[in-house]
Amino acid sequence: MIKGEQKPLPEIQGMIAPYKRVLVLGCGTCVTVCFVGGEKEVAGLASALRLHQRLSKGDKIIEEATVKRQCEREFLAEVARQIQSVDAVLSLACAIGVQAVAECFPTVPVLPGVNTSFLGLIEEPGKWSEVCAACGDCILHLTGGICPITRCAKSLFNGPCGGSVGGKCEISPDIPCAWQLIYDRLAATGRLHLLEEVRPPREWKSFSAAGPRRIVREELRVPAEDEKIRPKG
Ligand code: SF4
Ligand code: SF4
Repeated sequence: MIKGEQKPLPEIQGMIAPYKRVLVLGCGTCVTVCFVGGEKEVAGLASALRLHQRLSKGDKIIEEATVKRQCEREFLAEVARQIQSVDAVLSLACAIGVQAVAECFPTVPVLPGVNTSFLGLIEEPGKWSEVCAACGDCILHLTGGICPITRCAKSLFNGPCGGSVGGKCEISPDIPCAWQLIYDRLAATGRLHLLEEVRPPREWKSFSAAGPRRIVREELRVPAEDEKIRPKG
């Protein structure tokens, strides 16, 4: 799940200051699950912004709507008219949703109401932690399902750093040492032999190649009109 946090109200008020009619646009998927940008949060933020307008004798019009997913065009089509009728959209989706709305409506300013934080898991109600950095070359089968890139403070690939105390990371007694977790999990599943293999330096090309990463699956693509008529080979 993509985890985010709503931006502080003063920052949001600063962003919307130049615009009269603003649509607070929620997203019904990841940010709803982590209580940041679903229907309820849209209603709460829109009310707070309207109240601020009333108290400060402002004349802004705050509208609200929530779509199932801002990152998919077909859901944005449901609110296309509303988006085109406002001066700005304040998106409560993750940064992917914000960019999708901006791409679909190039003449409408789209403002991020959420700080997109990480790919994480819920630990307990109200507590999430990062578990994946989307490195593009997953090695969880070698590390007992525990990601050393995100969960080890030094992203170590070949065992612990030596600073772990009582199973906790040396950076904080609140953070479990990822390599302790990896050891425990491999021991529990009878795969400790995996720790005997020294891994070569990581090829980071899949993680931080120059420019944005992209996945293309030809079998799922719908060829553009000019590709259909272009001869093969
Ligand atoms: S190894 Fe890469 S893909 Fe797998 S969990 Fe870690 S960051 Fe994510
Ligand atoms: S104590 Fe464990 S989790 Fe922390 S940096 Fe060292 S190996 Fe990584």
